[in-house]
Amino acid sequence: MAKIIFLGTSGAVASEKRDNTSFLIQTDELILIDTPGSLVSKLAKIKINFYKISKIFFTHSHPDHLYGIVSFLHSQYKLNNKVDIYGSLKVIKLIKNLRKIFSLENTKLYPKITFHTLNQPNFTFYASRDLSVSFFRAKHSPDAVGFKIFFKNERKTVIISGDSAFNNQLIKEAQNCDFLIHDCFCPYRFFKKYPQLYKKHTSSLQLGKIASLCKTKTLIPIHFSSELKYNFLELIREIKRNYPGKLIVPKDLMSLNI
Ligand SMILES: [Zn+2]
Ligand SMILES: [Zn+2]
Repeated sequence: MAKIIFLGTSGAVASEKRDNTSFLIQTDELILIDTPGSLVSKLAKIKINFYKISKIFFTHSHPDHLYGIVSFLHSQYKLNNKVDIYGSLKVIKLIKNLRKIFSLENTKLYPKITFHTLNQPNFTFYASRDLSVSFFRAKHSPDAVGFKIFFKNERKTVIISGDSAFNNQLIKEAQNCDFLIHDCFCPYRFFKKYPQLYKKHTSSLQLGKIASLCKTKTLIPIHFSSELKYNFLELIREIKRNYPGKLIVPKDLMSLNI
């Protein structure tokens, strides 16, 4: 059965219970979305051999989504692995530079990487027996994207917003989706206090509206701020003001059956 495992659910600042946001898609193959730190340890906790991961999709180039790639590649010393990496030009340039800086370019010692630039939104950039994936532009940084994943056997669609403020394109892509996994940085009162957040992230109040506009069957908020002080009950209450549907608030290492 296809699964999505939430390897982390926090924003840029990790907390005692939540690490930076990333996902593992598990079908017949294993696909990572983003690479914050401690991936090998997290995968070991869910009994996944890290060296079996063959593909990594990147949402954008911010450090909390990318910095762990160095350690992830370094861990694969002499395993003779191949990894396909899909990301923006900026993501690919950063990874190439990091490989050079940390001397991980020798493919006799470290994985052979094939890079794929995400440059055509709304078309399938990856397809296998189990799924097909396209990306759309997110509202966050110039290179930020979200993903639309169609699981063929289950006939279910999952939308992952990436880090994102309110995004008209997502509303279009996510109509009637089965799972909407969306940025939910903090309650609305912090957006009033720090209006710059409107350009980068989504409040729990806005997220309820977005989920209703999308008519999603299940909403899963992610990328929670750990640096701001609030109670999760406040966040849930705000979401439910505008969204009456099914809501799952994930914990790190939660496994979602598709
Ligand atoms: Zn982030
Ligand atoms: Zn970001």
